[in-house]
Amino acid sequence: MNRRNTRAPAPASGAGGCTCTPAWPALTALIDDTPYTVTPAPSHSPASALYLARCTGCGTPYLGPWKRLVVPPSQAA
Ligand SMILES: [Zn+2]
Repeated sequence: MNRRNTRAPAPASGAGGCTCTPAWPALTALIDDTPYTVTPAPSHSPASALYLARCTGCGTPYLGPWKRLVVPPSQAA
């Protein structure tokens, strides 16, 4: 990973880089070539340790922990 200087001070989230307003409007992680909607989480999950989430707005990699949003595949029981 390349580190580059940013002109603006990084937000306290620890995952700066998003240029959207508000920052990180939504996150998507590509897992096995399938995009999943994910959300920031307080700690890393197995998936977030293996895969990279990106901002859906600007495509900036989200380096903080995240978790997958559970979307039930139409379980009409
Ligand atoms: Zn963004």
